[in-house]
Amino acid sequence: MNLQAHPDSLARALDEFRRQFGGEPRIFRAPGRVNLIGGHLDYNEGWVLPIAIDRSCYVLVRRRNDRVLRVHSAHFNETLEFCPGDSRPSSHHWSTYVRGVAWSLAREVPALPGANLLIESEVPLGSGLSSSAALEVAVGFALLSLAEAKIDPVVLALACQRAENEYVGMRCGIMDQFAACFGRRGCALLIDCRTLAVEPLPIDETRVRVVVANTMVKHALASSEYNIRRRECEEAAARARQSRPSLRTLRDVSWPEIESESRAWPENLRRRARHVTTEISRVKDAVRALRASDFASLGRLMSESHESLDADYQVTSPELNSMVAIARGLPGVLGARMTGGGFGGCTVNLVLAEHAESFASALAHAYEAETRHRPDVTICRASDGACEIEPWKNSRQSAGGSPAARSLS
Ligand code: ADP
Ligand code: MG
Repeated sequence: MNLQAHPDSLARALDEFRRQFGGEPRIFRAPGRVNLIGGHLDYNEGWVLPIAIDRSCYVLVRRRNDRVLRVHSAHFNETLEFCPGDSRPSSHHWSTYVRGVAWSLAREVPALPGANLLIESEVPLGSGLSSSAALEVAVGFALLSLAEAKIDPVVLALACQRAENEYVGMRCGIMDQFAACFGRRGCALLIDCRTLAVEPLPIDETRVRVVVANTMVKHALASSEYNIRRRECEEAAARARQSRPSLRTLRDVSWPEIESESRAWPENLRRRARHVTTEISRVKDAVRALRASDFASLGRLMSESHESLDADYQVTSPELNSMVAIARGLPGVLGARMTGGGFGGCTVNLVLAEHAESFASALAHAYEAETRHRPDVTICRASDGACEIEPWKNSRQSAGGSPAARSLS
């Protein structure tokens, strides 16, 4: 097998697979993502604008003759075995995500075969780049492929979301799984989280680059506060619905429409509603800006989004605010905001291409000097979504020596 074109992580994973399980696996990958704008809008049925990033979760897989799933995570250096029908573990162990996908897919494909799986990921865990959806989609794609089932990317994304919502207990929206499935090289994805329509919008990476900066700090309340924000949005929508029976979510109103009535609401609900409704307007403006390659406006809207997530949605952290404040003082930056659920994790920065390298190193230095945390700052490329990698094929059809890939969407 020719692995010259592959990242070290994949070569390591292949060695580990042979050692743990023996034989030659099939290899599937799904990317992490970063959202340019549209923070906390997916579960409000709004619009979001993520890119799939060039960091992936790899699942190496080989069919077994029984129904057992035996799974090794290189990150945790741990191997576990279970059957699809086994009772649900109570803890939030990493294997819950894998079990959840098998549980969820069993509704689509009742006779999932047993398999040995090895998981290796370049997506940092719990940093807001969606290592969880990358894992779910790569595992789901692998299991469906082994079962020789038809793979509809919408069905796969929804099955993975159901796994995270109902099995893991994290009430995430659909953005992460959609970005992992539908990512497109050189493009942001405009996702309508109500209709599930996806439109790739090209980003001219010769003019601007997306720089992701990991604060390396994650506060423990991230997942509990996420579920609280969801509930608050539902409560705000219920209040707005009293005079608008057809309203389903906060997507169905604008801020000017509810500004005066929301003065009578509890302050937290008013703030959440103001963030959601104004963020929806910002995404629409951002899409117009991106279509016109007006990157200055896109960057400005990203920065406004951060202010709203800080003041109204209250999901930032001191470290995220420091990273954003430092970024805004550096040459070439057009916009900076937190990305993901918040309370730590990563920021996303839109930077003029010629400044991207110097921006990344200056940001890393200044943030470390200020906080004593050494950040991970990466210039990302917008990448393709989930695919099977076939390293033994000579990949003449793909540029840059990258492996041949059978794509999902
Ligand atoms: P994010 O999706 O932003 O990275 P989450 O808290 O949603 O953060 O998901 C992180 C969780 O996903 C991890 O704690 C772990 O349970 C699971 N996970 C992600 N990647 C891996 C991996 N390579 N091996 C095992 N579990 C993983
Ligand atoms: Mg996640």
